[in-house]
Amino acid sequence: LFIAIEGMDGSGKTSQLERIKQYLTEKKVSFLSTREPGGIPVSEQIRNVILNVDNHMSGLTECLLYASARREHLIQKVIPAVQSGQLVICDRYVMSSLAYQGYGRELGQAVLDINRLAIQVDQREYWADVNIYINVRPEVGLERIMAKTSDREINRLDLEAIDFHHRVYEGYTKLSTQYAEQFIIINGEQSEEEVFEEIRHVLEKLLAV
Ligand code: C5P
Ligand code: MG
Repeated sequence: LFIAIEGMDGSGKTSQLERIKQYLTEKKVSFLSTREPGGIPVSEQIRNVILNVDNHMSGLTECLLYASARREHLIQKVIPAVQSGQLVICDRYVMSSLAYQGYGRELGQAVLDINRLAIQVDQREYWADVNIYINVRPEVGLERIMAKTSDREINRLDLEAIDFHHRVYEGYTKLSTQYAEQFIIINGEQSEEEVFEEIRHVLEKLLAV
């Protein structure tokens, strides 16, 4: 089973993932936890290139880099684990690109085409079986980020991020309808404990533990 954890910046993915890992360990479920972009050395290097450039690169360049990191991570790490019967939990996957590059950067259909190519291995497309989407409105997510960010970074957020984050959010909302059977939507605006209770419930059903 291949599960992706999806959500906006500030949705609490990282803290929930820590709880998920702890829970799975307690339940003695054999799992692989990984992240995108990254998860293997070459993809972590691509992550650094994408996230550390001073000036914006073109949206399409960014999209192709994410897709490159994704494909290699899929081939080297995700597919072997899935095939050996492990549960794979991945922090972000294709839906992030559809939301961030497709809607956020407004690249639309090209992002789907590029990603279908990137996740095609041995004549099949490796989509996540389930996307656990932690739904937090962009205002709430940004406020959480601002609370732990320096003044200089906040200025940057002010300038560019508000509209962008709204587009990404609209994207996730549309995707959760379009791919409804692959989405499980969690209300991420509750307390961390309440959010995890919902996720735990979902995992119990999926894994029958
Ligand atoms: O999820 P994580 O915090 O590791 O993501 C790192 C950054 O990359 C975030 O700011 C996120 O907005 C961005 N990102 C993106 N497009 C993706 C995936 C992540 O812009 N497809
Ligand atoms: Mg994060």
